[in-house]
Amino acid sequence: MKNFDVVLWDVDGTLLNFSEAEKAAIRSLFSEFGLGECTDEMLSRYSDINRKYWNRLERGEMTKPEILVGRFAEFFAAEGIEPSLCKRFNEAYQLRLGDTIVFCDNSKELAASLAGKVRQYVVSNGTVAAQTKKLKNSGFDKLMDGVFLSEEVGYEKPAKGFFDCVFEEIGPLDKDRVLIVGDSLTSDIAGGACAGIRTCWYNPGGSVNDTEARVDFEIRDLNEVLGIL
Ligand SMILES: [Mg+2]
Repeated sequence: MKNFDVVLWDVDGTLLNFSEAEKAAIRSLFSEFGLGECTDEMLSRYSDINRKYWNRLERGEMTKPEILVGRFAEFFAAEGIEPSLCKRFNEAYQLRLGDTIVFCDNSKELAASLAGKVRQYVVSNGTVAAQTKKLKNSGFDKLMDGVFLSEEVGYEKPAKGFFDCVFEEIGPLDKDRVLIVGDSLTSDIAGGACAGIRTCWYNPGGSVNDTEARVDFEIRDLNEVLGIL
């Protein structure tokens, strides 16, 4: 491609529609765990709690295991559900997340069309259990040149350590020719900018950038990546 040799893709909210998969997983597990119906209002309250916990992870205030179980502990407590269930619920949830595959735009065709033209890697803070299943069920595992999951790398995005490990593995490379595409300003964009690569914010909802993160490119639809590369 003219401008870039390497694309780092975020998964949740970028290649795959995370919120749909999340809702389907929680709804089906509520029924399996005998917790009754999980209503839209409950899912919306869960979503707020979940976001708060992931922000804590990005700021380095909590560990991954703490946030994974902690968000369900807080959610269950708020909904009057027995909190001792939360550890087992989270384990089942990690596996169930991979069962519902909803693509963002036509992300799979896009990645397939780019295969062989640029090197493509997954960079995700999601758990190994969930992401491995998702990447396999979606077929992205066959389209990517490699997968970097924070649990295995030992650092979470936006930490510079995460990107250093990626570059070490796939380098040597010209950082000016590496683009990260992600929906999160706080992990993908802030991390990419700090690591010295170009950043592309996937912002389908037209949110306002209320962070300090340096956005080099902003897109509403993933296909706009083609014009950038
Ligand atoms: Mg994301």
